[in-house]
Amino acid sequence: MQEIERHVREVPDFPSPGISFKDITPLIEDGPAFHAAVDRAAAATAGIDYDRVLSAEARGFVFGTALAYRARKGLILARKPGKLPRETISASYDLEYGSNTLHVHADSIREGTRVLVVDDLLATGGTARAMCQLVENAGGVVAGVAFLVELTFLNGRERLAPYPVTSLLTYD
Ligand code: 5GP
Repeated sequence: MQEIERHVREVPDFPSPGISFKDITPLIEDGPAFHAAVDRAAAATAGIDYDRVLSAEARGFVFGTALAYRARKGLILARKPGKLPRETISASYDLEYGSNTLHVHADSIREGTRVLVVDDLLATGGTARAMCQLVENAGGVVAGVAFLVELTFLNGRERLAPYPVTSLLTYD
C-alpha cells in the first residue's frame, strides 16, 4: 500500500488556508502505482454485487472508469448542471460556501439497478451522499461506495451509513 500512498502529495493551504489537500495527480501519472491502486480497489469491491458504477466529474471519473472497465460493468456519469444532453435527474449538496448540483441522465438508473458509487476521495461525504440520493431517487439500490482516499477525521463515513463503504488509504 505504501507504493500507492507515497504518490499522494499533501498540498498545504489548498484550496484555502488550513486545508491540507490530498493531490492524487502524481499517483495517476505513475503507471505502476495507478495500476496497483485500481487493482486494489477492484479487489476491495469484488465481493459487491452491482450492475453499474456511478462516478462524478472530474477526478471521480478516473477511478470510476478504471473500475467499471476492469469489472466489465457499465459506467454512469454524474455531471455538473448543463453538461448532459438529455433529460436528467439531480441532487444538490451543501459546500462550505454555497452548494453543488449533480445530474445523471434520467434513464441511467432503473428500478432495482444496483450501483457502486465511486469517487477519488471521501471528505465530509456530501458529494457521495448526493450520488447515493440520485441512485435511490431513481429507484436504484446503492450496492456500495468506494474511495481511493478517506479523510477519517471528517467523519464522512457516518453520513454514508448504512451503505457499505470501502477506502484504500486513510488519513486521520
Ligand atoms: P466531500 O463531498 O466528501 O466533502 O468532498 C469530496 C469531494 O471533493 C470529492 O469529489 C473530491 O474529489 C473532492 N475533494 C475534497 N477534498 C479533496 C482532497 O483533499 N483531495 C482530492 N483529490 N479531492 C478532494
